[in-house]
Amino acid sequence: MSEVGAGLSLVRERIAAACARAKRPIEAVTLVAVSKLQPTALIREAYDAGQRDFGENYAQELRDKAAELAGLDGLRWHGIGPLQTNKAKYVAQVAYAFHAVDRVEIAQELAKRRKGEKLRCYLEVNVGGETTKSGVRPEDAPALLTAVRAIPSVEVVGLMTLPPPGDDPRPHFASLRTLATKLHLRELSMGTTADYELAIEEGATLIRVGTAIFGARPARTAR
Ligand SMILES: *Cc1c(COP(=O)(O)O)cnc(C)c1O
Repeated sequence: MSEVGAGLSLVRERIAAACARAKRPIEAVTLVAVSKLQPTALIREAYDAGQRDFGENYAQELRDKAAELAGLDGLRWHGIGPLQTNKAKYVAQVAYAFHAVDRVEIAQELAKRRKGEKLRCYLEVNVGGETTKSGVRPEDAPALLTAVRAIPSVEVVGLMTLPPPGDDPRPHFASLRTLATKLHLRELSMGTTADYELAIEEGATLIRVGTAIFGARPARTAR
């Protein structure tokens, strides 16, 4: 088994254990393998081990990898990082889902460039308060939801958050769940290598795990 295959197996075991603890079926949790800055050879290894959902942060990197791996049937790309409006086209053209809608302009740009199936979108919520920069404030989420819902070609399916590093993530995950319930949104994108088991216990329907699968990331170089 490849190293990536071994990493995936371990993560899958832990997902199953967390689901058992939380009395949730494992089908309720989708694992997105975060492959940002990792070479496509490792994505192929994960694909060969059965992984189909992959997350990328940088728009041009996503575009290039999607082109290179276009032959891999059933592979689904998730844009998970902050996005500038001028790069939205790269995500709109290839992604299955986008997890970081924090203002209406991003959803508008994505929609303009989207063809075919609606792009599944998550509103990124800043449940961490002052210490995090990205995401809409919880009190502004209802207005953002209403605005994005009016846009064709995108579909809001849930909420996403990334708790501030160093904080206890559990209360942040719990706040996101409470907010999603209030807004009648079903999906919760939350939990990374550091805290995905906790996130599952708090109701995550999708977790974004990179390092535990692929190992440490190479440094980002200017492109
Ligand atoms: C990089 C990243 C992840 C994955 O982080 P790991 O610690 O490698 O699991 C998840 N979510 C977002 C938004 C990220 O930018």
